[in-house]
Amino acid sequence: MRISVIGTGYVGLVTGTCFAESGNRVVCIDVDEDKLANMRNGKIPIYEPDLENIFLRNIKEKRLTFTNSLSEGIKEADVIFLALPTPPVEDGSADLSYILKVASELGELLDHYTVIVNKSTVPVGTVEKVRAVIKEKSKIDFDVISNPEFLREGFAVIDFMNPDRIVIGTESNNAKKIMEELYDPFVKNGSQIFFMDERSSELTKYAANSFLATKISFMNEIANLSELVGANVDQIRLGIGADERIGNRFLYPGIGYGGSCFPKDVMALNHIAGENNYIFKILEAVMSVNQIQKTKIVNKVTKYYNDNIEGKVFSIWGLAFKPDTDDIREAPSLEIIKELIGAGAKVRVYDPEAIKNVKTYFKDYQGITYHNDAYEALEKSDALIILTEWSVFRSPDFAKIKKNLNHPTIFDGRNLYELKVMKTNDFYYESIGREIVNSL
Ligand code: NAD
Repeated sequence: MRISVIGTGYVGLVTGTCFAESGNRVVCIDVDEDKLANMRNGKIPIYEPDLENIFLRNIKEKRLTFTNSLSEGIKEADVIFLALPTPPVEDGSADLSYILKVASELGELLDHYTVIVNKSTVPVGTVEKVRAVIKEKSKIDFDVISNPEFLREGFAVIDFMNPDRIVIGTESNNAKKIMEELYDPFVKNGSQIFFMDERSSELTKYAANSFLATKISFMNEIANLSELVGANVDQIRLGIGADERIGNRFLYPGIGYGGSCFPKDVMALNHIAGENNYIFKILEAVMSVNQIQKTKIVNKVTKYYNDNIEGKVFSIWGLAFKPDTDDIREAPSLEIIKELIGAGAKVRVYDPEAIKNVKTYFKDYQGITYHNDAYEALEKSDALIILTEWSVFRSPDFAKIKKNLNHPTIFDGRNLYELKVMKTNDFYYESIGREIVNSL
């Protein structure tokens, strides 16, 4: 098939590359000229494991091309995917301007039957809006359908190639047939395509992300309570996760959820509820718990130094909102760094992939130094603070950590280490929802 993907970010690039890999001709369309120039030169604009090889192979085999021209890009398309941003606006709702602008342009340009598939995460009723905008300008027969994306950054290729499920919202038999054909190579392992009405499909995506965010906030509250009653949240996690009804995934407490999806999607769902005069009490609690959780680690640090961290130097391991990505959108690390610096401390930061994005984000901000080596970042520091659970941090050289730090002190926002290992290695060690090791 001939596929066009409008918006070549995390979702669009993975979608385009994976559809090219299954034999389709894919044109990726974007407005970001730098990104396009890099991609044409075989430079992948994001860090995403397993993507680069298939990206390069499909460029070489001319199944994957790039353009800034919408009219060129959709010329022969059988299917057009929209993978455009839907960032939050001030009131928490999703900004649909990117999608509606492209819809209006498509209305001018369509000259043959095409299935327009929305992959962006959008409020209920967006497909109807897109259809109306196109119809206003076009006499051509077309379908607009919903196909929310569930890939996880860091596992995007695996998730796209072997999805848990594919959700498609449409009443059009023609579009259904085309989608079945397009996704057939990806459901050979038995995954299911759930066809449903558009509105349910749009709400499914928000419900999924909000449920996951709820799990995280719930575990963060259990962790906070564990600290107060002298329990260990990791043991509780195992104890409840063995119950199949609960499941053992997404039960890790930490420094609050971040990323480009959970915060905005929870807010957007809450906004949808509000617009319909429904108070979604759980979501309000989820958001407020998350906001508080982001400050927990800074509170632990400042409390340890008797509420005065002025002049202290902290090493930070991990900046991306989660491991295996360079994405720092809504990463808790950004707020934590600002709070530490705001209280008079300095930070020395290291991340395997996100340093470049963090440097761009903080620009001329004073008080941060960037390091390409985790152990170098520890030098001249009073303590190490761990914010992202990259696997390279899981079995570090504790002797070297101790040697490089001014004091053997670790604040771990991701519970990477066994308490007894930290005891043996003689670290002062504070984590989330567990006892403090070698407490003074
Ligand atoms: P992104 O910001 O990484 O990518 C969006 C791309 O669209 C950018 O490259 C931007 O330059 C381009 N763009 C903007 N306006 C354009 C226009 N008029 N024409 C062509 N290109 C244009 O965003 P993303 O993370 O890929 O997310 C896209 C959508 O998918 C969002 O709605 C998001 O909520 C949803 N989603 C994201 C993820 C994820 O893990 N990132 C997962 C599932 C769903």
